[in-house]
Amino acid sequence: MPENMNILDDISHRRYNSLRGTWLLVSPHRTKRPWQGQQESAEKITLPEYDPACYLCPGNKRAQGDINPKYTETFVFVNDYSAVKEEQAEYKQEVNPEDLSNLLLRAESVKGRCYVLTFSPSHNLTLADLTPKQILPIIQAWSQVYTAHLSPASPLASVAQPPSLALANIPVSAPSAQYRWMQIFENKGAAMGCSNPHPHCQIWTTTGLPEEALQELEQLKKYRHEHGGKSLLADYAQLEIEKGERVVFQNATFLVVCPWWAVWPFEVMVISKEHKRSLVDLNDQEKLDFAEAIAEVTRRYDNLFQTSFPYSSGIHQAPLEGSDEEIEASHFHMHFYPPLLRSATVRKFLVGYELMAEPQRDITPEQAAAQLRDCGGTLYRKLL
Ligand SMILES: [Zn+2]
Ligand SMILES: [Zn+2]
Repeated sequence: MPENMNILDDISHRRYNSLRGTWLLVSPHRTKRPWQGQQESAEKITLPEYDPACYLCPGNKRAQGDINPKYTETFVFVNDYSAVKEEQAEYKQEVNPEDLSNLLLRAESVKGRCYVLTFSPSHNLTLADLTPKQILPIIQAWSQVYTAHLSPASPLASVAQPPSLALANIPVSAPSAQYRWMQIFENKGAAMGCSNPHPHCQIWTTTGLPEEALQELEQLKKYRHEHGGKSLLADYAQLEIEKGERVVFQNATFLVVCPWWAVWPFEVMVISKEHKRSLVDLNDQEKLDFAEAIAEVTRRYDNLFQTSFPYSSGIHQAPLEGSDEEIEASHFHMHFYPPLLRSATVRKFLVGYELMAEPQRDITPEQAAAQLRDCGGTLYRKLL
């Protein structure tokens, strides 16, 4: 380890997040405070494989009366309580430069469609319980939903030859408009506000670019422009592989790393080593490598505190519709933001200084990566 890294282990410092263009405060010495945490016993999952009251289990009736098919792998449907809708009243802000409302009370309408995608027919499984081969159909479903929503004008559409939604086995009609962004995300665990333990994710498509996507895309475009067309995340992945200290896992296609700029204690990024713009750039073997990376992250998370580890995760990739520059600058990756800090019950809150000043963390990403490297192997629950 270089000498200046040793210093950063002991002193408060700020780290720059080059993907977002923001800073965070790192206070590693705070973890040397005495910790009186109790050691909890390993947690078993006692949920049934099928729950007659679950709106995601095969064959069950949902809130609006639709019946789920008896699906065997994954199942996609339009969310019965979507956050954005395809049809709504038009809204256009009047343009009057003398009116302060134009400046200070801005709004724009957002249309879109929200899907729910189940990971498995089994109510009591999580990604951590699944093998890469069992995760692969989920990635294929993500890929199909994404591809079916691509703008025909996108350079990605010619690679992917977008199927219609029906061909992609998505039992819904085509959306009424071309949407710009697709956010695939999972909230896992009650700590993250997830109300149903049945393994599933959400897929929201919207007319505009949301803030996180916009901020990252600006940084990716800037780097590409300033570094002769190179990808920030390809360069970053290469650098992390050379350094090694924040690497959790890697295979031929993907790097799993606790990023230099991690805010959450055990935050992880899954980054494609080479420049891939989106799911459509991954061939079958690369999709399986992605499945393996997800399996490695989620199993290590559960093993870390011997609990079903809560997190929010999400995929960032090229917009469904965008300029060639936006699409070429995009670099496929996945974030995992877990709230747990020292045990199954001690969680980190983003409060106080984090809300008022900037994010702050105690253990360093290097320490977090070392702990996650050490807890691979069999899922703890299988040994109970
Ligand atoms: Zn269920
Ligand atoms: Zn991202």
